[in-house]
Amino acid sequence: MQSTMQDVPLTLSRILAHGATVHGRAQVTTWTGEGRPDRRSFAEIGARAAQLAHALRDLGVEAGEPTGTLMWNNAEHMEAYFAIPCMGAVLHTLNLRLAPEQLVWIVNHAADRVVLVNGSLLPLLAPLLPRMETVEHLVVVGPGDTSLLAGCRPAVHDYETLLAGRPTTYDWPELDERHPAAMCYTSGTTGDPKGVVYSHRSIYLHSMQVNMAESFGLTSRDTSLPIVPMFHVLAWGLPHAAFLAGIGLLLTDRFLQPAAIAEMIETERPTHAAAVPTIWQGLLGELAARERDISSLRAVVIGGSACPPSLMRDFEERHGVTVVQAWGMTETSPLGSIAHPPATVTDPDEAWPYRITQGRFPASVEARLIGPDGDVLPWDGESAGELEVRGPWIAGAYHGGAGAEPVRPDDKFRDGWLRTGDVGTITPDGYLTLTDRAKDVIKSGGEWISSVELENHLMAHPEVAEAAVVAVPDDKWGERPLATVVLRPGATAGFAELREFLALRVARWQLPERWSLLESVPKTSVGKFDKKVLRKRYADGELA
Ligand code: ADP
Repeated sequence: MQSTMQDVPLTLSRILAHGATVHGRAQVTTWTGEGRPDRRSFAEIGARAAQLAHALRDLGVEAGEPTGTLMWNNAEHMEAYFAIPCMGAVLHTLNLRLAPEQLVWIVNHAADRVVLVNGSLLPLLAPLLPRMETVEHLVVVGPGDTSLLAGCRPAVHDYETLLAGRPTTYDWPELDERHPAAMCYTSGTTGDPKGVVYSHRSIYLHSMQVNMAESFGLTSRDTSLPIVPMFHVLAWGLPHAAFLAGIGLLLTDRFLQPAAIAEMIETERPTHAAAVPTIWQGLLGELAARERDISSLRAVVIGGSACPPSLMRDFEERHGVTVVQAWGMTETSPLGSIAHPPATVTDPDEAWPYRITQGRFPASVEARLIGPDGDVLPWDGESAGELEVRGPWIAGAYHGGAGAEPVRPDDKFRDGWLRTGDVGTITPDGYLTLTDRAKDVIKSGGEWISSVELENHLMAHPEVAEAAVVAVPDDKWGERPLATVVLRPGATAGFAELREFLALRVARWQLPERWSLLESVPKTSVGKFDKKVLRKRYADGELA
């Protein structure tokens, strides 16, 4: 027997057509920092995406060709998010916070020929252009100092001039659902960044998952504020999910300071927001200094690195906002797991232990734990191993460079599974708890110490703003923890007090002997604690 169902490709042009018509009046609001935000309906975004596709076609953009965007979260970036994949090209979002060398490497590796760039980012891009060998066309979006581009090799175009007068519809091609749609590079915390290429199918299925009630659960009655950049794993899927379900979007543009974020929440009243923990720490600090009304927020999603439980508590107790923790990676699109308590657990105190885990996997994400000997470990809530996942929106390889075959390094892929590099346990009912990244675990005298656990306890101390714990070499034990802390303004706690505070919460042999006070913990390009930098500082003798 054969299935009798139609086989319709799952492509982004479907999501665009749906969003721009059925949800045509939903809005993308971009903060301008000038009192009046830019407001554009999904219908307008759709029309302008068609104009952009015509323009890009005239610049010679072809099917399968990567087209770069070096842009903030804004309406024009949304236009590119649909125009580029729907015309058959590949949206390549460039991480504007990477080291210049890495940005050059990534553009050359992907072989971007056309790059859309926000005018405000020209001071960053212009000096790098001579080394970006493949770039032939620059499209400048919004105001900026174009004199910086005088004499540059690529042809320079103004975005609005390029779009003006073009047809507002486009005959989007019928693409194979496995056709590449978008690519993001990992932030390269170890070695060169690696390119993950999403397909139309993977983005489509991921968007549907994002919108499910037990994931982000957003509807056309919501407005979401993705503070997570559109260059960081496609803003966790929110732009595409928004067009699928008519979710309004509030976009930050370049206004990412805590005061600006507090102001946009107060005035635009989003119901939902998403960002890494450090952004939320900053916002909490701002709200402590200056009261703002953020009561419109129904839920915020925190992911990208372990969310300190103290941060969740602060948000909920001081501001009445529910925090939902999610886990994912560039390689997982990113939604891998999300921490909602079981429906039967309604008491907040009973729900808490579930909510501070990394949560449960959706049906489409299969997960297994691999022990140190390569054995598959049971889901018993105790056996700790490396997490491996597979599913329709999980990467199976990395982009191999211009025209080359995909690559599957052994340390990242095994028998069709993605090796996440994250270590943890899974309970019989599927709750994942990550204790560490494999490379951050502290191996002391044959036992493992979780750096995340020490950090979470330290950050629960009322005088600690940030804490990062790293392994440092030790003659006797192999490795020992070094605790770095950032104190809140006016705080007086000393190391002895912090150590005693920890001693009440973890086994004594886990207590760090080495401590260091920092002005701030160094962060990666996507705002996570950069432990590689801390380890190097220790090796260079800068830290105790
Ligand atoms: P990079 O690997 O370049 O930092 P990613 O954004 O892909 O970029 O990072 C993915 C990693 O972030 C995961 O492998 C995991 O270590 C960490 N991570 C993401 N979400 C969480 C979470 N909720 N709890 C703990 N770690 C997390």
